Amino acid sequence: MSDIKRRDFLKGALASAVTAGVFSASSASAEILCPGEKIKWDDTQDIVVIGTGFAGLTAAIHAKLSGGSPVIFEKRGLIGGNSSLSTAWLNAAETTIQRDKFGIKDDTHEIHFKDTLKGGDYKNDPVLVKKLTDEVTESVEWLKSLGAPFPKVVFLGGASKKRAHAVSNEYGGGLVKLLYDQVKELKIPVKKKTKVIDFIVDMGKDGSRELKGLKIDQNGKTKYVRVKKAVIIATGGFGSSKELVERYDPSLVGYSTTNFDDVSTGEAMVAAMECGADTSGINYIQIHPTLSRSESGKGNILITEGLRGTGFILVNVNAKRFVQDLDRRDVVSAAILEQPQKYAILIGSKETYDNKVADYIKLGLAYEANTMEELAVKAKLDPAVLKATIDEYNGYVKQGKDPVFNRKDVSIPILTAPFYAIPCQPAIHHTMGGLRINTDGQVIDLEGKVIKRMYAAGEVTGGIHGTNRLGGNAVADCLTFGRLAAKKAVTEQG
Ligand SMILES: Cc1cc2nc3c(=O)[nH]c(=O)nc-3n(C[C@H](O)[C@H](O)[C@H](O)COP(=O)(O)OP(=O)(O)OC[C@H]3O[C@@H](n4cnc5c(N)ncnc54)[C@H](O)[C@@H]3O)c2cc1C
Repeated sequence: MSDIKRRDFLKGALASAVTAGVFSASSASAEILCPGEKIKWDDTQDIVVIGTGFAGLTAAIHAKLSGGSPVIFEKRGLIGGNSSLSTAWLNAAETTIQRDKFGIKDDTHEIHFKDTLKGGDYKNDPVLVKKLTDEVTESVEWLKSLGAPFPKVVFLGGASKKRAHAVSNEYGGGLVKLLYDQVKELKIPVKKKTKVIDFIVDMGKDGSRELKGLKIDQNGKTKYVRVKKAVIIATGGFGSSKELVERYDPSLVGYSTTNFDDVSTGEAMVAAMECGADTSGINYIQIHPTLSRSESGKGNILITEGLRGTGFILVNVNAKRFVQDLDRRDVVSAAILEQPQKYAILIGSKETYDNKVADYIKLGLAYEANTMEELAVKAKLDPAVLKATIDEYNGYVKQGKDPVFNRKDVSIPILTAPFYAIPCQPAIHHTMGGLRINTDGQVIDLEGKVIKRMYAAGEVTGGIHGTNRLGGNAVADCLTFGRLAAKKAVTEQG
């Protein structure tokens, strides 16, 4: 049996142990890993970044700017991954955008740190959270230097200050374009239709692991790529893998997802685990409260949380409010699932409008009307009850406080036509858990040691968000750990 075949065979045994949840540090053994010396390499690269989402593009740019020679491998024929679907809210405190453009002067890294830990039920790794909340300010300043317009800063669920920065008017697609333009300008090669299917990791006599290269499928051909300095895994989450979702949270079987079906499939994360990478928070999978709910059930997309930030409120099918709209995602999702028919309707007006609403109308996911009564009929709500609910809410806006649900921001009324209604339902959104990393983005193995030359950033990693990611913290995480991982990766000896 060749080394590779032997490894595949042995890995199968290890994979069953991992997937059965019985794998522990003590069950890792040297013979499971491939020594690698018999591999015939087809190619050699300095630094390989896997994935073209926010984390991968950022990592590649910073690797190049720091003197490395990165190449990007992307399994799809398209750039951007789930990041291109994203609304791209980005949480950061103490930014010049907050202070100089929007007059927000009372937010600090410390408050962002505390909000993130609280939002994650204190199951986050505080060292990673501290790094994120201190360093993300630099990520915002970097995007600003690239020309990101930052048109808004709003409240998102679980935040105690207005710190969710809209990076561009074109949402995630706008940020992917901004980053991809840099990749092109820096002449970083991007190999599309190149899927990483395995990591080649050697185990030293002292039990330490070192990544030597990758097994890839490039346009249907299997190749082995030797890596001189490092690999940065930026392959996103696993929310679209029915198998992994069932394995890590069986209560979510049957839910739809807000992710692309062919992106968040988790195979690279599993391959790293099979080579001995540890994970953090792998059972924490987030449900987002507002996936659209079209009558056909087709073409549903995420309705941005930013709408609640700009003043939309949630009502149930009886046209009544039932939750603090700006509460954490898990709290709002659970509240929706307790309502009759397990869905809710976002209600807004000209005052609460965001450009995204026009897209939702075009896609047939939102109703628009000139009166509240007409809107109620379109959304199948009782007109009199809806009008009473909205009148009551507008009264709270006048008082500046919501005595019933204690909504965090009651500054925007729902008064002027056109009025909008958007039916929505909870769906699988984000996988908080993933590969365990340190503050330099180095992947940690089951013995708590760094796997040499293996780095990860973005949604494929775990530990930062605890049980529940706050809206705006994933983009923060991708941009910040993408940069930190790249800066460390270039220092590896080739
Ligand atoms: C609809 C939606 C809206 C969101 N809005 C926000 C928001 O406003 N703010 C916020 O903070 N977060 C938001 N999120 C979450 C956030 O956008 C994601 O967590 C983030 O974009 C993930 O980026 P990433 O770079 O880690 O992964 P991705 O963007 O998913 O990129 C991963 C890339 O890796 C590629 N890949 C995967 N496996 C392989 C492989 N084996 N070989 C080669 N390539 C591979 C994929 O094809 C993909 O291109 C949103 C998510 C969704 C779905």
